[in-house]
Amino acid sequence: RPSDLVLEVNNIEVIYNKAVQALRGLSLAVPRGQIVALLGSNGAGKSTTLKAISGLLALENGALASGSILFDGLPVAQLAPQQLVRRGLSHVMEGRRVFEDLTVEENLVAASYALTGRSSGRPDARPDYDLVYSYFPRLHERRKGLAGYLSGGEQQMLAIGRALIAEPTLILLDEPSLGLSPRLVEDIFGIIARINAERGTSMLLVEQNATVALAVAHRGYILENGKIVIDGPAELLAGDADVREFYLGMG
Ligand code: ATP
Repeated sequence: RPSDLVLEVNNIEVIYNKAVQALRGLSLAVPRGQIVALLGSNGAGKSTTLKAISGLLALENGALASGSILFDGLPVAQLAPQQLVRRGLSHVMEGRRVFEDLTVEENLVAASYALTGRSSGRPDARPDYDLVYSYFPRLHERRKGLAGYLSGGEQQMLAIGRALIAEPTLILLDEPSLGLSPRLVEDIFGIIARINAERGTSMLLVEQNATVALAVAHRGYILENGKIVIDGPAELLAGDADVREFYLGMG
């Protein structure tokens, strides 16, 4: 019986280089099928949280972590990042990491090779490029073009599209609004909400832009100095004057 929580993070502590304590006993949960926003200012520990979940933190020099993280009931510490991707956990990193010297379509092909663990020949099953293009028609128009020539918004679409190739149950999204115009932010968050609603994909959404994040999220957590200081249903957080003023800096 699948648990109603797709992700359970319990009491995570992370210390970098024996000096910087980035997370201090952080706990959070993502209910299956929901979008959960993780909010907080610069340096609060949001990216560190996502890296701890996807296993990327273990690859970083000088990072020490403790606590427990269950993805779909499975301790993530027992799996390599690659295995986690195959089991349905995708991490869209901050700064839209795409291969700039490859075309849009080649970026999607590379994502599917990463899934099968092969570097040549054909992927085992034909990856669902049409799924990606159905959410991002713009990527279909630009599929023969180099990813390096895409606009910032298009690169963010491609970064999310690469994650979709794995047909994930949970997507970790690190600051998808970063550096984008308000119009594009609205577009991309509309698509994020559609992917969640139509496919039931759960998401943990890290954002500094609390307004847009809480507009699509079901629940929210606010992180300060490596600790959760408040959490609750998204519309309650968004509508609470004290939360807005003291935690979200929205006056
Ligand atoms: P931002 O939005 O700026 O990325 P964040 O909330 O994601 O902020 P983190 O990037 O998780 O915060 O950083 C949390 C703390 O850990 C900060 O003090 C940061 O300087 C520190 N930190 C992050 N990565 C490393 C690292 N590789 N080595 C040392 N310190 C780090």
